[in-house]
Amino acid sequence: APDAESKKLLDAMPQSYPDYEVMPDIPGHAKYLLIGGGTASFAAFRAIRASDAKAQVLVVTEEEELPYMRPPLSKELWYSDEPKLVEKLKFKQWNGKERSVYYNPPSFYVEPKELAYQENGGVAVVKGRKVMKLDPQKQVAVLDNGWEIFYDKVLIATGGRPRNIPVFERASQEVKDRVTLFRGIKDFKRLDEVSRNASTIVVVGGGFLGSELTCALGKRSRDSSLKVIQMFPEPGNMGKVLPEYLSQWTTAKVRGEGATVKPETFVKRARFSDGKVILKLNTGEEISTDHVVVAVGLEPNTELAKESGLEVDDTYGGFRVNAELEARSDIWVAGDASSFYDIKLGRRRVEHHDHAVVSGRLAGENMTGARKPYWHQSMFWSDLGPDVGYEAIGIVDSSLPTVAVFAKATEKDTPKAVVEETGESLRSVTETEAEATLPTKEETVAAVSGETTAPPEVEIKDPSDPASATGVEPSASEKTEGVRETKVFDLANYPFALLPHPEVMTLVLHS
Ligand code: FAD
Ligand code: NAD
Repeated sequence: APDAESKKLLDAMPQSYPDYEVMPDIPGHAKYLLIGGGTASFAAFRAIRASDAKAQVLVVTEEEELPYMRPPLSKELWYSDEPKLVEKLKFKQWNGKERSVYYNPPSFYVEPKELAYQENGGVAVVKGRKVMKLDPQKQVAVLDNGWEIFYDKVLIATGGRPRNIPVFERASQEVKDRVTLFRGIKDFKRLDEVSRNASTIVVVGGGFLGSELTCALGKRSRDSSLKVIQMFPEPGNMGKVLPEYLSQWTTAKVRGEGATVKPETFVKRARFSDGKVILKLNTGEEISTDHVVVAVGLEPNTELAKESGLEVDDTYGGFRVNAELEARSDIWVAGDASSFYDIKLGRRRVEHHDHAVVSGRLAGENMTGARKPYWHQSMFWSDLGPDVGYEAIGIVDSSLPTVAVFAKATEKDTPKAVVEETGESLRSVTETEAEATLPTKEETVAAVSGETTAPPEVEIKDPSDPASATGVEPSASEKTEGVRETKVFDLANYPFALLPHPEVMTLVLHS
């Protein structure tokens, strides 16, 4: 039977259930309510259960899926030669080990209606339901079917949805039917199917998603008659993140994966003709395609905010929270949807997997009373196929000054080797670590330079310097152009990924 506290709440509710045998499908009360079934929620329920062993946690998610990870949807899943793995949403990690995109098997979860009866607690997931608003004073969440769930502590981990651009929003239905805004499992399944039958796919967008999917589709195009064309307004792939010379180098790598890449190009008009989508480009060119993938950024899911009296950040988007990730009493926000105060780097919002893990875990700990501030810097990674990958930490923005340190690449410096070495499926180190300890800045500098005092004399590259934008893979001498001094370090002694600095982006490229 429900414990005394739950019984009291149930009795006090407008829809109270005198006969507990006939419990509704969705509980009317949850001690811990998590809105959204993504990575931040997953990390939160794990942290909650770690500190409150008998915790009953209720997750409500709009998707018809149990919690799963998104990174393989634009990477590993496309590189499997076994179609059954793809159907089952299993993938071979770069190290050859197999795993599922789902964090836990269905048997891990309890039925929502049985949650209140679990003596040892558990996690239940209500799928296909959206939380429309919260009443922070009454501590109640209202679902899209009008159902009310009273909560003690609630986490908002609603992530975001893909942006679209006006040219496709205004297009005819025939065009819209051939456009994919890519975010989840159902989009992966659709694009997988499309790519087996289409003769041309256009990817619009040169950021993380557009570039990863272009490489994935490019790989598929090498074994078929599929043609893949990527276009974006920047001069090179990942132009908002990588300094210009690295962006140019990356563009050459993406082309090497089998795609046609059109930088400084965008779609002006889209129409439907003879079963094809015809794209009129700013360059005057017209392209005929079977399908378009639009990957032009993310809109945080904050619809809840207005009716719930929660503040949305005008600058960064997302729900505004404090350093403990709390928006109002007993309401926390984590993951992509959170504009948080980082006590090291100031206010920001981060749209990456490891941040969802780090912030979800912190929110979960704070929901059980830890009162910890956000201090642990999350990292992110991106892979453009099995051979090129990069990792970064801190604020990563190509408009910041670049300090470039070149190191000789070895066999160990590929995404595959990194995964092999750690044995982890994902390059999210914190995913499996309960607690990580960062070295101090001095310790890191000492490790890099072999010195104990001053930081090494590293080269400063001016991102606006045209010398850095000349071409594809820079040779050793090109690399040093426009720089003060080049130092070559052994990557093994080179833990740069652990050196967050507000004005310098820290990025390690494996290739
Ligand atoms: P999400 O994962 O978006 O989960 C939010 C969930 O909440 C969704 O299920 C949504 O349907 C649900 N929801 C929204 N509103 C409501 C509501 N009102 N009520 C109920 N449910 C709701 N990051 C990296 O660092 N490295 C990578 O390699 C990488 N690869 C990626 C590949 C792809 C294809 C994508 C899409 C993203 C990738 N990312 C990667 C980014 C990373 O996956 C996200 O940062 C992470 O998923 C954010 O987690 P989240 O829990 O905040 O949000
Ligand atoms: P993004 O913010 O990385 O890239 C946005 C890109 O949109 C820009 O680089 C630009 O090329 C393009 N763009 C903007 N306006 C445009 C226009 N009018 N026409 C053409 N192109 C335009 O976002 P994304 O690549 O769409 O990724 C979606 C989300 O998924 C993000 O949150 C991202 O962080 C996440 N993601 C992360 C990873 C990773 O960390 N490895 C991988 C995939 C996806």
